[in-house]
Amino acid sequence: MSGFAQRSGSLFCEGVSLEAIANEHGTPTYVYSRQSIEQAFLAYQSALSDRPHLICYAVKANSNLAVLSVLAKLGAGFDVVSVGELERVVAAGGDADKTVFSGVGKTPQEMQRALEIGIRCFNIESEAEMMALAAVAESLGQSAPISIRVNPDVDAGTHPYISTGLKENKFGVDIETARRLYRAAQASSALMPVGIDCHIGSQILEVAPFIASLECLLQLFDELAGEGIELKHLDIGGGLGVSYDEPAPSIEDYLSALSTHLDARGCELVLEPGRSIVALAGVLLTKVLYLKPSTARNFAIVDGAMNDLLRPALYSAWQDIQPVTPRQGEVLTWDIVGPICETGDFLGKDRQLTLSEGDLLAVMGAGAYGFAMASHYNSRPKVAEVMVDHDAVHVIGEREALNDLWQRERLLPERDA
Ligand SMILES: *Cc1c(COP(=O)(O)O)cnc(C)c1O
Repeated sequence: MSGFAQRSGSLFCEGVSLEAIANEHGTPTYVYSRQSIEQAFLAYQSALSDRPHLICYAVKANSNLAVLSVLAKLGAGFDVVSVGELERVVAAGGDADKTVFSGVGKTPQEMQRALEIGIRCFNIESEAEMMALAAVAESLGQSAPISIRVNPDVDAGTHPYISTGLKENKFGVDIETARRLYRAAQASSALMPVGIDCHIGSQILEVAPFIASLECLLQLFDELAGEGIELKHLDIGGGLGVSYDEPAPSIEDYLSALSTHLDARGCELVLEPGRSIVALAGVLLTKVLYLKPSTARNFAIVDGAMNDLLRPALYSAWQDIQPVTPRQGEVLTWDIVGPICETGDFLGKDRQLTLSEGDLLAVMGAGAYGFAMASHYNSRPKVAEVMVDHDAVHVIGEREALNDLWQRERLLPERDA
């Protein structure tokens, strides 16, 4: 269930037409379906109901406070990669003690704040980072709960920019190093090993790489138990793909495969899904400004651009583009491009559509890594975000004004003559 469907000739989000949203809130605007976010989260929760688990939503996929709060209300935990994300979780009413902290470059200040708030676990990515955390925890008289991020060296078969589980990636440590770090942590009063984790990449469309990583983690988990290092949780990371164009495994199929491999183990399973919770729950609503047909290519220039939605430009990602109110007429092949001065500024290429100036288009599957990756490039203010809840539309992110762009900039003082 994506929350978006054509109904009586027009595209709706839950009970509200996107045309009504465009009239009321303008374009470009991100539109999210609350129900669809909840359903994806509940699919994880119910598939794991018979084993101890914690679903830590990866905040970086979509960090809007309202999104976090919807998930917090369902009992979600969170995976954060900066103190900024951690403070967002707190501001949205999320539980610190259900929050895990990932990322290769946590600063001592970030570690200190996370210890003060009392997070569930630090996902450690290097020996140097672990030593820094031990020093911070010691100065606070605390013992920091840690998990070592193991790099299982599996190829997730995804785009190189979002593949993280290979030896050559900057993430995690190899098994040998992990073993050594666990022994050192066990011996330190400032560190408390509580789990083991990995995260092999994003937009992964097969279950096999997850199973391979799980087996790798389980082997080390058991080995450590044999040495008296009893870990409580096993965190398999995020990364489950969604169906932008190719079919993706369902959340249920993915979890049943994981469960089979965990069989009767009692350890808590932690997951860090981002994309699979929010991607299909959002669209970028944009308007056709100008049509520019030519003998070489037909361009539809829209008001949304790569600064609003970067995935097509960054990863050549394909996202479906639907007319909000489909019209009769000649179908042509269009490149849907934004106003930014870059050839890479496109939202979609070679799309078969019947278009007129002023038409509204919905770039589907834009709920994850959409607004979260937006920038001000070309001095374009960040767009509005709304969340639909049945028949109600709530503004959850105000459109920026132009002077928001330079609010923190300063002119130089006049030079003395
Ligand atoms: C990005 C990330 C996730 C979420 O990945 P998705 O593909 O959005 O599910 C989870 N864990 C870590 C450590 C990440 O960096």
